[in-house]
Amino acid sequence: MDLMLYDTFTNSKKKFEPIDPNNVRMYVCGPTVYDYAHVGNARPVIVFDILFRLLKKIYGSGNVTYVRNITDVDDKIIHAANDQNEDIGMLTEKTINYFHDDAKYVGALKPTFEPRATEHIPEMIELIEKLISKEFAYVSDGNVLFSSNKFKEYGKLSGKNLDEMVAGSRVGVESYKKEESDFVLWKPSKENEPSWKSPWGDGRPGWHIECSAMSEKLLGENFDIHGGGQDLIFPHHENEIAQSECANNNKFANYWVHNGFVTVEGNKMSKSDGNFVTVNELKDSFQGEVIRLTMISTHYRQPLNWTKDNLNESKKTLDKWYTFLSNFNGDELKDANNDNEIMETLLDDINTPKAISVLHQKFKDCQSGDKGLVSNFLYSANMLGLLNEKPSEWLSWKKENLNINTAQVELLIAQRNEARSNKNFDDADRIRDELDKMGVILEDQGGETTWKVK
Ligand SMILES: [Zn+2]
Repeated sequence: MDLMLYDTFTNSKKKFEPIDPNNVRMYVCGPTVYDYAHVGNARPVIVFDILFRLLKKIYGSGNVTYVRNITDVDDKIIHAANDQNEDIGMLTEKTINYFHDDAKYVGALKPTFEPRATEHIPEMIELIEKLISKEFAYVSDGNVLFSSNKFKEYGKLSGKNLDEMVAGSRVGVESYKKEESDFVLWKPSKENEPSWKSPWGDGRPGWHIECSAMSEKLLGENFDIHGGGQDLIFPHHENEIAQSECANNNKFANYWVHNGFVTVEGNKMSKSDGNFVTVNELKDSFQGEVIRLTMISTHYRQPLNWTKDNLNESKKTLDKWYTFLSNFNGDELKDANNDNEIMETLLDDINTPKAISVLHQKFKDCQSGDKGLVSNFLYSANMLGLLNEKPSEWLSWKKENLNINTAQVELLIAQRNEARSNKNFDDADRIRDELDKMGVILEDQGGETTWKVK
């Protein structure tokens, strides 16, 4: 059976045919790192992780290259650093760590490459120079702009019509732009902003050129799948196509895969309305697989409504599955082979809700305790990145009732270790008592301190 993917470009489900089955190449737009990731940011992380796992299964684990970039230079980052009076490098480094923690927490495999924009500035400059020399871009007041009307196919992904977009009016167009729809490839940096030397003066790249340059560097001019959230179709992905295809005179990505929006309790996520949910804040109450199951219970192209009820429902399901699996010794369940039923659902445009309903059926079917069926159930769940924990560990996880702040616990343990190494045993004991009151038990073994919940 073939892999069918819904391609935004043709607005249709298309049979996936890789350029090179020995190196299937996928690029997904990653985070702009200035704040904790929210559940809307987590959706593409999980959706494209499922696709990455699926491609590895089909083409072989070493035959898939998955690139997810990190945007670590951007106006939003500069504003956030200024607001918090924090060094930009410190802010991005810290946020990248948070993001990695979150991705691990939801069970996402590491991409093959995770390029950072600031490490690929020369490639961006080179690409911009190419666009200028081919007269697709022009320099104006230290800015370099892409002339969108020079690309006859501009708007072909989003279906937007350039004539409508520019509609004759120049009201509100920045003075350095020829047309309103022209977009920035390079812009001058103000004092104290990150800046790199370029033929057009000290400055920094625009966001769109980052992805064109990094995808070309790591995947080539033409690659298989470009993914991201639906909100990136215009202008970000439209502009990536314009830049890359004009510079290279070659097709950019062969398939465009986009995940749908996320709302929280039926509303658009917004900090001021108090319905803004970060992945990090969920860690105190739920194990990562609960987040993952909740996320993939909706098909990736559909809008996803994030609710506490859905989270609790996923938690109940996983508790039930793990409780059943705790009756078996893990080694007994290792001989499952390929699972065609789950595979079939995923091959059909990553139909995870259907895969989950198949899992429920398999769970029913293995209640007899038949080890072959139980192994098959477990193997199927693993294909979705679920049931990867040891049942005993899953079931002893009680943090949700205690609301323990993991970071706070780690901090206190570090302080206690320091007190002990300074032979300050009164302080060390006091910290141990403090943790005890929080419901945390420490275990010192072989020079290392681990902790668990009472
Ligand atoms: Zn991008």
